[in-house]
Amino acid sequence: NKFVYFFGNEETEGKNSMKDLLGGKGANLAEMANLGIPVPPGFTITTEVCLLYLDKGVYPTEVIDQINNAILKLEKVTGKKFGNNENPLLISVRSGARVSMPGMMDTVLNLGLNDDTVAGLAKKTGNERFAYDSYRRFLTMFGDVVLDIQHHKFESALSEKKQKLGVVLDTDLNADALKGLVETFKSIIRDETGKDFPQDPRKQLQMAIDAVFNSWNNQRAITYRRLNNIPGEWGTAVNVQSMVYGNMGETSGTGVAFTRDPATGDKRFFGEYLMNAQGEDVVAGIRTPESIVTLENTMPESYAKLEEIYKKLENHFSDMQDIEFTIEEGKLFMLQTRAGKRTAAAALKIAVDMVNEGLIDKRTALMRVSPEQIDRLLHPTIDSQAEYEVLATGLPASPGAAVGKVVFTAEHAEEMAKNNEKVILVRTETSPEDIGGMDAAQGILTVRGGMTSHAAVVARGMGKPCVAGCGAVSIDMSSLTFTVCDVTVNEGDYVTLDGTTGALIIGEVDLITPTVSGELDVLLSWADEVREMGVRTNADTPHDAQVAREFGAEGIGLCRTEHMFFGEDRIPAVRDMILAEDTNVRKAALDKLLPMQKEDFMGIFKVMEGYPVTIRLLDPPLHEFLPKHEELADKLRAVEAAGGSSKEMEDIKRLMERVDSMVETNPMLGHRGCRLGITYPEIYKMQVQAIIEAACELKSSGMDIVPEIMVPLISHVNELSSAKKDLVEVAESVMAKNGVKLDYLVGTMIELPRAALTADQIAKEAEFFSFGTNDLTQTTFGFSRDDAGKFLPFYIENSILTNDPFAVLDQEGVGELVRIGIEKGRSTRPDLKIGICGEHGGEPSSVKFGYNIGLNYVSCSPFRVPIARLSAAQAVI
Ligand code: PEP
Ligand code: MG
Repeated sequence: NKFVYFFGNEETEGKNSMKDLLGGKGANLAEMANLGIPVPPGFTITTEVCLLYLDKGVYPTEVIDQINNAILKLEKVTGKKFGNNENPLLISVRSGARVSMPGMMDTVLNLGLNDDTVAGLAKKTGNERFAYDSYRRFLTMFGDVVLDIQHHKFESALSEKKQKLGVVLDTDLNADALKGLVETFKSIIRDETGKDFPQDPRKQLQMAIDAVFNSWNNQRAITYRRLNNIPGEWGTAVNVQSMVYGNMGETSGTGVAFTRDPATGDKRFFGEYLMNAQGEDVVAGIRTPESIVTLENTMPESYAKLEEIYKKLENHFSDMQDIEFTIEEGKLFMLQTRAGKRTAAAALKIAVDMVNEGLIDKRTALMRVSPEQIDRLLHPTIDSQAEYEVLATGLPASPGAAVGKVVFTAEHAEEMAKNNEKVILVRTETSPEDIGGMDAAQGILTVRGGMTSHAAVVARGMGKPCVAGCGAVSIDMSSLTFTVCDVTVNEGDYVTLDGTTGALIIGEVDLITPTVSGELDVLLSWADEVREMGVRTNADTPHDAQVAREFGAEGIGLCRTEHMFFGEDRIPAVRDMILAEDTNVRKAALDKLLPMQKEDFMGIFKVMEGYPVTIRLLDPPLHEFLPKHEELADKLRAVEAAGGSSKEMEDIKRLMERVDSMVETNPMLGHRGCRLGITYPEIYKMQVQAIIEAACELKSSGMDIVPEIMVPLISHVNELSSAKKDLVEVAESVMAKNGVKLDYLVGTMIELPRAALTADQIAKEAEFFSFGTNDLTQTTFGFSRDDAGKFLPFYIENSILTNDPFAVLDQEGVGELVRIGIEKGRSTRPDLKIGICGEHGGEPSSVKFGYNIGLNYVSCSPFRVPIARLSAAQAVI
C-alpha cells in the first residue's frame, strides 16, 4: 500500500485529482510541481494513514518505512541532511484536509532544529541571527501546536525581551538576544510539560505528525465540520516540506495573494508581503505588510516570475487562486495554491467574467455562485468592519439587516414612517392586522413564532428583515419598553436587526446596501437556460407580483386571498359576513366584498398576463378577522365611561359573545381551509365568481389569462369533490353569462399527511397539486408552526435536529410524504401538474430535492425567486 507521496521536480507522484487521498493542499502542491512551478520538495502522508492512526493509535510499519524513504529522497534532492550538524535539512509540517479547514491544526515551521543543528545552520548560511530567529520560531510553534502550550506564554517572553532591550520590531533583535530567547522558550516548555524540549529531529517529526492527525478530532475541528457539513470520515493528510526562508535578510520575504480582488472580483492581482519574514508574520499583524504591487519595484525579477506563475495557476485551475509564496535570497517558491474565498459580489463577477474570457463554461459558472450568495446580494447586510454586541438571538426568519427606532404598535410604526422615521416593529407576534405597520417598518422583531409564523411569511414576502421567536425579549406594553435580562430598551431607542443570523443589537450598526449588478441578470439568464423546473412566486398584491416578475417569476403559485380581506375598506364587510346569523345576511355582506375581490384579481392577472395564477380560496379560521376579546372589553369600558347608549353597549357585548363562541383551542387544526368553504359555501362561491368574472373581463379585452383555483387543507377526496362541484357550477355560469370560454383549472393543496397518502384518489378530482409544506411539516412532526420557536432552537443547538424543518424541508419525513404524493397522484393522472408553495419553495436544498422527486415548479416569495432560479439550475447540473 502506498501511504506517502513525494512531490517536487520530476519526482512528483501525486496530482490535483487526488484530493481525497492527499488533501487539498497536498494535491495542489503536487499539481504545481507537475506544472514545473518551483515548489520546495516534500511529501504528503495520506488521509488513509490518519484514519488508521485514529482508529488504532499506531501506524502500520509500512508507513514508518515509507516516511523514512521519503526523507532520504528529500535529502538527496535538497543536498541537505535531516538532523545533520553541518548542513541540516529543515522541514515544515502542515495539515491538509480535502477542503481547507481554518481552525484545525496550524503549521510547524523549521522542524529539525536543535541546539546542534542551529549552530550548523548558522555556520552554513553565515547568518547567526537568521539561524536563531528560526529556532525561536520553531520552539514557539512546536510548543503551541504540538505541545499545546498557550501561545501567549511565548509572546509575553518575546515582548519582555524587546522591552528590556528597548526595541520595537522582532527584526531589531540581534543574534545574542535571540539566543537568550531560545533558552527562555526551552524553559517555558520544561515548566509547562515537565519534560525537556525533544532535541531529536526524528522524534520532533513523529510528534508533529501525531499532532496533526490528532487535531482532526479536536473540538474546534469537530465544530467546524459540523457547521460546514464535512464528514468526520475524511481525515486529514500531513504535508512535510523542505523549508525555504523568507527571513534570510532583505532579499528574502514572504507573502499571500489572490489572483483577482476577492472583495469586488475585479481582475487585478491583489495581496501583501513582508520582506525578511516568515509566513506567520504576515498573518500575525505585528509588522504591517506591503501591498503586492510594490514588489514590482523592490524585486522586479521575482515579481515578474510571480506574475507569470499566478496567471499560469489561474488558467490551469480555471478559478481565482489564493496563493502563498516565499522568496529566498531572490529566488521565488510557491508554498500553496487553492481556490480563493470571495465575497458574494466577487463570486458573481468572477464567474461571469471567466465565461466571457473563455476560461469556464456557463454550467461551471452556475456552480461557482451559491444561492446563499445571491440572497446576500439582494439584501442589506451588517458592515463586516462594524463592531457591536448581540443582545439576543431569535430565528433568522427573513434575511437582510435593518436599523430603526423601536415601536410597539403597527399604528405607531405607520405614523412615524409618515414622518420619514425609520422604525423596527417589535411585537409579541404579528397578525394580519399589523400588515400596514410591517410595511412601514424597516424590520420586524417578534417574541413568539417560528419560520412560518405570520411575521416570517409576510416579511419574506415584503423582502424585509425579520427576527422571529426571540424569546429572550419581554415586552411591557404599559411602559412601552422591552427588556432582555437587565437591559431595558424604550420605544424610540435605536436597534439593529440581522434577519440573516437572527441577531438583535442595541443601537445603530453600519449597514452595507448591495448593488445588484448586470452580472446577476446574466448569470440568472444562464440558469434559466439550464433549469427544467418552473419558478413561480407567492404573491397576493399586484405590487408583489410586479416585483416577482422583475425577479423572473413565471406566474403565481400561491395567492393567499385572506390577505385581501384585511384591507381597511373591506374589514367591516368581512366582519358582517362572519357575524351574519343567516345565509341571506351573509350573502349580502359577500355581495359587498365581491367587487373588491374582483378588483384585486384583475390587478394581479394584469401583471401576470400570459402566466398561470394560482388563487387559493380562503384558508384561515374566521375569528382571525374579528377583534380580540380584550380589545372589545376595553372598548366597552370606554363607551360606558363616556356614557354611551345602551344599544351601542349591547352591540359590543353581542360581538364579544360571538368572538368568544368562535375561540378554538387548536385553531391551526380547527375550522379553517376547505372546512370553512364546505360549511359556508357562499364564501368560496363569491371568490370563484370574482376570479372568473375578472378573468372573463380581461380575456374579452384580448388578454391571455390563466386562472388556477386552489382548495386548501383537504384531507379526504370527498372534501375536494364537494367543494369542486360548487366551484365549477359558479365558474361555468359566469362564463356563460359573459359569453367567454376560459381555460381554468381546479386543483388542491396537499398539506396534510392523509392527503399525501391518498393522493391517487385526490388526483382523480384535482387538475393540479401544490404541496403546502408549511402545514405538512406542522402536521407531520406535530410541531405547531407558531409555537415551535420555543423548543426548536434548543433542538438544533443540541443536534437533535440538524435544521429547522420549517425552513429546510425534512427530506426523510415530510419529503417522503411529498414523494409518495407525487407518485400516487401521477398514478391516476399522469400529466398532473405539481408544485410546492410552502416556504421551502425558495430554500436551495429543498428546491434541489423537489427537482429530484419530479416537481414541475416551485413557488416562493418574490425576493427568493432569483435564489430558486439558480438552485433549480444547479439541481440539473
Ligand atoms: C403551506 O401550508 O405550506 C402553505 C403554503 O399555506 P399557508 O402557509 O398559508 O398555510
Ligand atoms: Mg397551509
